[in-house]
Formats: sequence, structure tokens, C-alpha cells
Amino acid sequence: MERSVRLIPFMDKDIIIIGGGPSGLSTALHLCKIAPHLAPRILILEKEYYPRFKLCAGGLTIDAENILQKLGLDVSEVPHVDTDDIRFDFQSKGLNIRIPKRHALRIIRRDEFDNWLAEKVREAGIEICEGVTVKKITPQSDQVTIETDQGTFHAQIIVGADGSNGITRRAILPNAPVYTARVLEVIAPKYDVIARGAKPDEAISTMNRGIASGKSAPRNDKEAYFEFSPVPNNIAGYVWDFPTQINGEAMRCWGIYDTNILANEQRPSFRETLAKEMKHLGYNLNDYEIKGHPIRWYSPENQMSAPRVLLVGDAAGADPLFGEGISIALGYGAIAAREIQESIQRGEYSFGGYRRRVVRSGLGQTLIARWIIAYIVYPIKWKWFQILLWRMLKPVVIIIAWIFVLNWGKRI
Ligand SMILES: Cc1cc2nc3c(=O)[nH]c(=O)nc-3n(C[C@H](O)[C@H](O)[C@H](O)COP(=O)(O)OP(=O)(O)OC[C@H]3O[C@@H](n4cnc5c(N)ncnc54)[C@H](O)[C@@H]3O)c2cc1C
Repeated sequence: MERSVRLIPFMDKDIIIIGGGPSGLSTALHLCKIAPHLAPRILILEKEYYPRFKLCAGGLTIDAENILQKLGLDVSEVPHVDTDDIRFDFQSKGLNIRIPKRHALRIIRRDEFDNWLAEKVREAGIEICEGVTVKKITPQSDQVTIETDQGTFHAQIIVGADGSNGITRRAILPNAPVYTARVLEVIAPKYDVIARGAKPDEAISTMNRGIASGKSAPRNDKEAYFEFSPVPNNIAGYVWDFPTQINGEAMRCWGIYDTNILANEQRPSFRETLAKEMKHLGYNLNDYEIKGHPIRWYSPENQMSAPRVLLVGDAAGADPLFGEGISIALGYGAIAAREIQESIQRGEYSFGGYRRRVVRSGLGQTLIARWIIAYIVYPIKWKWFQILLWRMLKPVVIIIAWIFVLNWGKRI
């Protein structure tokens, strides 16, 4: 039997979600699904206005789509590009992963995707206050006080969905260790535009030189590429090259990811490492605007709650192996919603069992598996190991990926 929660005055709600990215919006939608009567008692505070920019390559894995499908949502309503294959290469040779009878990776733009998800939240009867920046969070024994640039709010429960640099985690866990990856991203034209570029001879000859030297192979516009050649230089990550679209125009999204696991070793310039990979394909990084943002990743050490406060998405910890965070954020939302619903039923908001609930879920299992794999494949940085892994162990890698990395979305 659900206990009644005390009546809330103006600007107060029972549940306030800080941040309207995929983790906050997913928490709201899952709460609505399992306890529809809670919808009017939930408020999302978002500092930006939709559609707002979010630096992200927008790769949605099968798990993101499975979670959205279970919510009754069809993500094909969002403008997207589908890739037939995902390639994992070391110096342009490696393995490709294909999923039978479906695309391997769906690529969306985050302004469009988050705006669409926010619309679904509003349609479910949940209020989103845009343009409200949370400045201070004070959990107390009977409520949480949330000070913003638009006034003070109170809630019984708050969900910190405010991303890698969020204020909620810093408020409740000021001294906890933080593991963050560094990431850079650029949007560039498609290969054929580069080949026909302003200095076509230079671009084509650079590309041909790259191909002739075995450093790059001709690439397919329908594939997403992960290139692990930076690993022997102590960059514990990869360079990616995905197809994307901006306002309907086909483009490529390039970027570089480094978990920072090897941060104590000597490392080359991060920017130059990306520039070098792009140059093999005829791109000059200086021609494009480069943007960076950290990703806070999951470690078994990460704390995820305090009395009356839960963390979801990047605030709790994204995937350390690839920096994948959209499906992970959607998954946290499902788990946090169950934790909140049961807490409201009990009238007890310590959230002491939340981390255990995450760890035991399909999400927790994939996060732990990816954390272990990251600590194996990146520190063993010898070239021969990378060649063996990506070029010769294809069946082993595919089985591990299928069992431990993908397909968890059905088990949350
Ligand atoms: C360069 C780059 C490329 C990436 N590529 C991929 C990819 O291809 N696939 C993938 O799965 N993941 C990718 N990620 C990771 C992914 O973007 C994140 O994991 C994901 O956005 C996490 O969602 P979230 O809801 O936890 O946080 P966010 O998406 O960061 O949302 C947080 C929200 O909180 C709001 N907010 C923050 N502070 C406050 C405040 N004080 N008050 C009110 N609101 C606040 C923000 O405006 C934002 O809307 C990438 C990340 C980067 C940096």
C-alpha cells in the first residue's frame, strides 16, 4: 500500500529531476510507465532550451533502441543515418560487426533526439522547466532544497541527471574519486567532398599516399569506424569516424576518445593524433571547428546515491571502454524509476540499495564487463597485441561483444 507523501507548496514537487538529457528524460518516462499517477508529481529542471546543442557523435546501439521500444517509442521518427557495419581497426585493418537483418548503428543528432524525447515526456504529462540552472543542492532529513537562478525549489527526492560536469554529484559526493575520459569531436564533409575539395590534387594525393602506405583504406560512407592505432602511444582509446547528417546533409563526424587510464605515461598531443588519422583520409583538421567535453565513466568504486538523491547517466558513470553513454543513460533511467517507485511505496528515501540494484541489472553487468575489458585492451598497448586482437581474434571478439557488451537492454 503506497504511503501518502506530504502536500507540496508552489515550486515544490515530490520528484525533481535535474537535467533533461537522455538519463533524466528516461527516468521520467520510466516512472510514468510503472506509476502513471506520479506524472504530475515530477518536475524536470533543464538549464538550456530545446532543441539544445550537446556535443556527441550520436551513435545509438541496439540496446538504446530496445529500451526506447520497450517504452513504446519509435526512434526512427528522429532524423538519422543507419550504418550497415561497425569496423574495429588497427592501422586500417581489422574486423567488422554486422547485425543480421538490421542496421549495426543508428546515428542521430543530439539536439534533435533530446528534443524528440522531451516532447514524449511532455506528452506523458510531465512538466519540464527550461532555462533553469540549478546552483546549489542541500539534502535535509525531510526534503531537498534546490536553489536555482529562478528561485528555490523543494522536493522529497531528486535525481541528478546533469551529466559529467553536473552539480548534483559534486553536492552529494564532494570527495569521491572521479574517472573521466577526454574527448574531441569535429564535423567534416563526406569523403567524396574532400576528394573534390578546394585543393583536390592535394587532398586526393594525401589520401592516395595514405592508402598506398597501408595507413588507410578506402572507406565506405555506410560504415562507422573505430581506429585503435593511438593505443601504443598511451592513448587508451580510439579515433572514430561516423556518418551523420546535419539538417539533412550527409556529413562525417570524427573524434578521438581517451579513457585517461594511461594518463601517467608520456602521451603525444591529443589533437595531433586525431589530425594524423584524419590526414590519411585527406582531411585537414585545421579546416574544422574542434570541440571537447569530458565523459565521466563507470568504475565499481563510483558512489551513486545519498539519502533522497539518486544519480543517473554520466553523473553515475558511462561506459569506460568506448565512452558510449546514450543507451547507458536510458538504462539508468529504468533502474532509478523502479528504485524511486519502491521508495515511495515504503515512504523511505535512503536509496542505500540503488548501487546494488544497478550492479545486478543488465546495465551493471555490461558496465562491469566494459570496465574489465578497458583495463585489459588499453594497458596492453603493444602493437602486436592490438594486431592480434582486432585482426586475428575476430570470432572471440564478436562473441565477447555479443555476450558482455551488447544485448543488455532487454535485461533491465
Ligand atoms: C564528443 C562526445 C561524443 C559522444 N558520442 C557518443 C556516441 O556516439 N554514442 C553514445 O552512446 N554516447 C556518446 N557520448 C556520450 C553521451 O553524450 C553521454 O553519455 C550522454 O549524453 C549522457 O546523458 P546524460 O543525460 O547523463 O547527460 P547529458 O546528455 O549531458 O545531459 C545533461 C543535461 O543536464 C543539463 N544540466 C547540466 N547542469 C545543469 C544544471 N546545473 N541545472 C539544470 N540543468 C543542467 C544539461 O543542459 C543537459 O541537458 C559522447 C560524448 C561526447 C562528449
